Amino acid sequence: MTCAEKIRLYTDGIAERTGRRPGVSVTTFGCQQNEADSERLTGIAESLGYRRTDNEEEAYLIIYNTCAVREHAELKALSRTGQLKHLKERNPELIVCVCGCMVAQEHRLEDIKKRYPYVDILFGTASHGRLAEYLAEKIESGGRAFYPDSDYQIEEGLPVCRESSFKAWVSVMYGCDNFCTYCVVPYVRGRERSRRRECILEEIRGLVAGGVRDITLLGQNVNSYGKGLYDDYSFADLLEDICGIEGDYIIRFMTSHPKDATFRLIDVMAEHSRQDSRPRIARQFHLPLQSGSDRILRAMNRRYTRDRYLSLVNYMREKIPDIAVSTDIIVGFPGETEEDFSDTLEMLETVRFDAFFSFIYSPRKGTPAARMEQVPDDVKTERFARMLEVQNRISREKNDLYVGRTERVLVEGRSKTDPGMMTGRNEKNRLIHFRGDDSLTGNFVNVKIISADTYYVEGAFEKEGLDEQNEVQSH
Ligand code: SAM
Ligand code: SF4
Repeated sequence: MTCAEKIRLYTDGIAERTGRRPGVSVTTFGCQQNEADSERLTGIAESLGYRRTDNEEEAYLIIYNTCAVREHAELKALSRTGQLKHLKERNPELIVCVCGCMVAQEHRLEDIKKRYPYVDILFGTASHGRLAEYLAEKIESGGRAFYPDSDYQIEEGLPVCRESSFKAWVSVMYGCDNFCTYCVVPYVRGRERSRRRECILEEIRGLVAGGVRDITLLGQNVNSYGKGLYDDYSFADLLEDICGIEGDYIIRFMTSHPKDATFRLIDVMAEHSRQDSRPRIARQFHLPLQSGSDRILRAMNRRYTRDRYLSLVNYMREKIPDIAVSTDIIVGFPGETEEDFSDTLEMLETVRFDAFFSFIYSPRKGTPAARMEQVPDDVKTERFARMLEVQNRISREKNDLYVGRTERVLVEGRSKTDPGMMTGRNEKNRLIHFRGDDSLTGNFVNVKIISADTYYVEGAFEKEGLDEQNEVQSH
């Protein structure tokens, strides 16, 4: 009997006894890659007879998929893990599994083993496909099981339970070879490895045929897609091939590394984001800058300069004038002086990003930057606040420009903060709120923008603006 068959029998047994299939609750900490991994873990659990639930109280399997990029994310996951003790006491059959980037670090694995004796299974990022095996071992032996990552492979064909029926993540590659000196990712996700193009294209064809409208290609550095797999096939080639797939959808991708992003990639984007035909590629580019100081970029081992960065942005804007550019910035990297920080602020003013994700530098065990001389916490916090002020002003000014325009919006559902409003995003990933009803969810609609805020804009739904295709679907 295979491990999957054993677990199926086990979950059938619980279902027979309790009158309900046992619940699985998967919680994600961290980035989009983790979200994509969690969708696979949920898919696998469902294929083993579990029923997806958001209520941990009724779960027989709880999975925490953790992040290690910053200490804050780790502490959050550890604190949540601490709270599981009482659930385990109430239901001794509950299996608790903690996995992902945090667990892929040996010191954390050991820490969790010792401090949380009710965690049954621990594994890293390398082998989600072995979940059935892990569960079977746990159920048969009754003991705890720990699986440090050893072999990073690409696992194709695993079941996926997607959170959304109209938006999807598609990983094109895994791992990272860049070793930015602040970053733990290369240590916890292994070396770069790309999926075969035919697997990616087949997955996207299936998604589009199933009604998915917004697809984000994922990788830590998508621009090195194909390295070690193809001699003469780049990320730009992959994008072109994807654009050959018929359907009403839009493609985004993240993350691009400025040292590897090519002008050809921008040319391909320009060709396939033209507004005179239905654009396939979103006019949006996420290009992490991290710092505006060449000295700090060198210390970060980023291997580009601010001039190189600016030349990419200028080329993008020349080819796609209204492209939205977003970025990641780290404040308080070791050795960052007031002058380095001013260089970063100056870059914010020069580029005028449409959105940015800012992080206070967090020392990560085992990375070179953690051993460098640190910037005091109060200086980091103060710079962070100043930077936010600058970017918030710019974001607000950029959002003001939307007022009076009509935007094509993919409706995501009710706003979490104001259930009276619907919420969605335009091609440029701008958050847009408007009054409407649930029937619009998952469709592209036109919204006339009436007012702007720092983080979103608000508008009015234009009924006659509904896409032809949406109208056909709703009849
Ligand atoms: N591969 C992507 C890239 O190179 O841009 C990013 C991956 S990382 C998960 C996402 C962001 O987290 C990074 O762009 C960086 O700004 C931030 N980050 C990574 N390590 C960090 C650290 N030690 N402290 C603070 N922020 C960090
Ligand atoms: Fe981390 Fe740098 Fe790799 Fe991004 S490119 S995952 S920041 S090491």
